[in-house]
Amino acid sequence: MTDPAAPVAFIGLGMMGLPMASRLVAAGFAVRGSDLSAEARSSLAERGGAVFDSPAEAAVGAEVVITMLPDGRNVRDVLLGSGGVAQPMAPGGLIVDMSSSAPLGTRTLAEELAGGGLSLIDAPVSGGVRRAVDGTLAIMAGGEAAQIERARPLLDAMGRSVFATGPVGSGHAAKALNNYVSAAGLAAACEAAIVAERFGVDPAVLVDVLNASTGRNNSTEVKMKPFILSGSFASGFSMALMAKDLATAADLGNELGLDLAGLRTAAHLWAEASAALGKSADHTEIFRYLERETGLAA
Ligand code: NAD
Repeated sequence: MTDPAAPVAFIGLGMMGLPMASRLVAAGFAVRGSDLSAEARSSLAERGGAVFDSPAEAAVGAEVVITMLPDGRNVRDVLLGSGGVAQPMAPGGLIVDMSSSAPLGTRTLAEELAGGGLSLIDAPVSGGVRRAVDGTLAIMAGGEAAQIERARPLLDAMGRSVFATGPVGSGHAAKALNNYVSAAGLAAACEAAIVAERFGVDPAVLVDVLNASTGRNNSTEVKMKPFILSGSFASGFSMALMAKDLATAADLGNELGLDLAGLRTAAHLWAEASAALGKSADHTEIFRYLERETGLAA
């Protein structure tokens, strides 16, 4: 940032946004937060951030505005809807969309904002709530190199690795593709555990085998035992958001004219599971859904 003391607005203080904004407060930035939820606003206030009822109020005087909202439609509404954040921002301002938004929508949004003298970079994250709390997220940043450098002090306070992925929208593309690979690995591990159980192998033993073998992946390491076999299903990442990411990846493949059987199957599975289990389900409940589909559980 050109002026390190300049206020930074942070819109969206949910499972990820609250710990990320808190990292910025702890790093000494003057954070002005906003969220629809009064509880989320109070939580940031308790951690030392200034809070505002509306995103536009939070953006007053901010050179940089960070968005961490459910999807790109929310981001567009918050920026360009009536009473939107773009209004109070002075020309030259920077918007950093850290949500997992759809890449083609991000490109269009960036063009529209440029018309008003504002820059946009996409900087979605991976690592989940635990790494948001630790400030060790992986961040994939798309956009002009100079704008990514401008945001770097903020990104460094929230993440351990910042990847410049290319033009605007490329970070969002990388994020959707990452979540496709992550979701496919999780579903495969869940199916393997279900087959193991049916055959009389303790699923916990199977997870140990996978973790010492070539089937190991992030889900076998950090999700299967703590969130699935324990029955807690409390990873902090909802199934609806995972299904949205897979739909984003599938849409991207379609837009590019690519027919991808694995991606099509995964997007379908997660959409069905999300519709069946409802909005409040955690994404690790894909295990429960698969158990039910295979007739293993009621
Ligand atoms: P969340 O639902 O917990 O938080 C979203 C927040 O945005 C909520 O607090 C909601 O009140 C707020 N919000 C929605 N519309 C708003 C508006 N118009 N104005 C102000 N606030 C508004 O979601 P999350 O899990 O924090 O995820 C945020 C983004 O990060 C999503 O795009 C998600 O896909 C992505 N993501 C999540 C995780 C995870 O582990 N939870 C990991 C990586 C990326």
